[in-house]
This record gives sequence, C-alpha cells and structure tokens, in this order.
Amino acid sequence: MSKAVHAPVSVDHNVCQGTGYCEHLLPQVFRVGAEGHAEVLREVDTEEELELAREAEDICPTRAIRVELAQRGS
Ligand code: SF4
Repeated sequence: MSKAVHAPVSVDHNVCQGTGYCEHLLPQVFRVGAEGHAEVLREVDTEEELELAREAEDICPTRAIRVELAQRGS
C-alpha cells in the first residue's frame, strides 16, 4: 500500500517543450495542454506517485519539472 505524502509539483512553462514524457509517466498529475506545455493537474499525494514524479523530473529533457516534498506537521 502506498503511504500518503504531500508534494507540490511545478512545471516551468518558459522551458517546457511539450514532449509529453511526464504525462506518459503520470497522467493523473501532468497533462500537455493545447498551448504545448505540460500543466500540473494536482499535487502528488502517494509515495508511488512521488517516485514517478521524481522520475519525470529526471527524464524531462528541459529540466522544467520541480517536485517538492513538504512534510506534514507532526
Ligand atoms: S517532460 Fe518536461 S518538456 Fe516534456 S512535457 Fe513534461 S515538463 Fe514539458
């Protein structure tokens, strides 16, 4: 079972080239819009999604993706 996390994701539209790799990996979070840039649909909220989002961050050819892991207050 995947643990809950809280990880906002962002895409820099100034450098994204709309290759769609991120959408292919994690379509529930990334979508390439009509303007040819990836949009973030929602934050990442499971460890499994976090792993995929970090993979997208690594494979994005223009390094447009940032994944931040915000710790929930204890
Ligand atoms: S992988 Fe990177 S360049 Fe390609 S659509 Fe996603 S954010 Fe844009």
